Parts: sequence; structure tokens; C-alpha cells
Amino acid sequence: MTNRRDFIKSASFLTLGGLLVGNTSCKPTPEATKAATQPVVKKRIGLQIYSLGKELYADVPAGLKRVGEMGFTTIELAGYREGKIGDIEMSEFKKMSDDAGLQIISTHVNPPVREYTPANKAEIAEFWKKAADDHAKIGVTYLVQPGQPSTRSVEETAFVGEVFNEAGQIAKAAGLSFGYHNHDREFSRVIPGGTEMKFGRGGFGRDQEGVEIVYDVLLQNTDPSLVFFEMDVYWTVMGQQDPVAYMQKNPDRIKLLHIKDKAVLGQSGMMNFENIFKQAYAIGIKDYFVELEGIGEGKQFGGVKGCIEYLQNAPFVK
Ligand code: MG
Repeated sequence: MTNRRDFIKSASFLTLGGLLVGNTSCKPTPEATKAATQPVVKKRIGLQIYSLGKELYADVPAGLKRVGEMGFTTIELAGYREGKIGDIEMSEFKKMSDDAGLQIISTHVNPPVREYTPANKAEIAEFWKKAADDHAKIGVTYLVQPGQPSTRSVEETAFVGEVFNEAGQIAKAAGLSFGYHNHDREFSRVIPGGTEMKFGRGGFGRDQEGVEIVYDVLLQNTDPSLVFFEMDVYWTVMGQQDPVAYMQKNPDRIKLLHIKDKAVLGQSGMMNFENIFKQAYAIGIKDYFVELEGIGEGKQFGGVKGCIEYLQNAPFVK
């Protein structure tokens, strides 16, 4: 596929070639010299398609092409329901993505229940079997649950970990990896035998007996060979925790990231993306997805473009 970027790449080589043979009859412009010295490797940058909201569904093939032209290489799906993404058959969606030069490597899928109990464990397993098979057919690697089942105590949270392990086994049997994506509420605290999770001021004190952060209980009660974590760095910060520290402490558990800010990346000033990327590379993270929220309808494509430009221009992003 030849796109604008490939053309620029070729043009850079041509200019460099001209310089190497000592062709001085056609002096390169300062811009051309700059282009020739820029890296020609396309950065591997993913997009969570939820970022585009309804704007994508106005015209999915054209929208995905715009995403590819912006420079994204991979996408993470959202909106799975009974073999479809939005209203589109998954095989069709896959074809549209291929045509746009985008590889679907991940997907966000929530089971139809918000509370996990021994009574609905079998129903959840059935749901995952179908979801895993549907996604395996289109070659997806990561099956990620983005929503937090509600829990009130350490024990209930540990049970969620058990259900995640089962989802991990089901995903593995279908050739996928199962992961969990956080928001800020996972950094609430629970106590043994508790009746609610609490966050922030008025919450459980750190020194209260048996108190645990929900996210930590999930880490401790899931099998590393079955469940990985996709850390949303913005929501971790909103949960008053440091995503870099979590990556340092859990280098083998956090495999994917959501690179997200309050709105367009880099504009709020509250996220230290340089440190986040440095640590992500240190623990071998290869894939991450830009996620955009907090921007009005009609501005989503523009916002997503602003996000990728930030990463393309960031010297700390490989
Ligand atoms: Mg996210």
C-alpha cells in the first residue's frame, strides 16, 4: 500500500541518495535535509476506536481510512455485541480495517452482568466462549474486559479474580490472551468482610486492618499465565496512583497500555508521558492504544489526530 507517509519516506531516501552521490547541481532545501535526517520507521501506534464515538459510524470504511492515513497501525475494538461491532458483522469490520491498513489486535468486551456471583459464573463463561471464538475468527490477539464488576469486600474482589482466571482459560483455548482494563474506581479500597468499596477522603485508612486496593486484590488473585492487565494511565492517575510505579512493581502483568489524557494527549499537563513510555519500554510493552475522551461530538477525529501528532513528535516515543 502506498500512502502519503510512504511517499514521504521514499522522497527522503531519494534526497539522501542525491546527497550521497555528491549531486550539487540540485541543492536540497533545508526542509529536504531535515526530512532526510528524520527516522523513516513508522511508529507502532494503536487507537481504541471508542475514541471516535458516533463520528466513526457515520461512514466506517472512510473513517478507518482516515485513521490509517493519520499514521495509526493497530486498533482495539469496542462495541462488540453478538458477532457484530456496532451494527457491522465482524468479518466485514475486519475487511474494512485491512483496507485501511489497520491491524485489529485487541478488543474491549464486557460480559452482560455487572456483579459476579457463583450463580452467574457459568453464564459469564458461556459469554466468553462465544466472544473469544468470534474474535479468534478475525485474528484478534487480546480480549480485554474494560468494566469493573462491582464488589464490596476483599473476598468479593478476589472472587472476581477467580472469574477472570476462568475467562483467561477460555480465551487461551481459543488462542487469545485475556486482560483487564481499569478506570479510577479500581483504586478504591476494600476491607475483609466489607459492605462497600471506598475511595479518597472519608475512605478506609491505609492502616486499617486488612485494607487493600481493589486493583491489587485483582493482581494477587489472578494467574499471571491467564490474566494480564491493560493499564489506563490516565485513570490510574485519577485514582491517585502512579502508573510508572505500578509498571515497576508488576513488570510481567501489565502488557498493554491506554495512553490517555484528560482530553487531547499532552495538553492537560497532568500526565508525564515521557516517564510512562520510558518505563513501558523497560518492561517490554510493545502495544498501547490512544484513547480520547472529554472532547465534544464533532471534534473526535480532530482530537485523535492531535493525539497521534503528539506521539509522532515526541522524541521519547519509539
Ligand atoms: Mg481506557
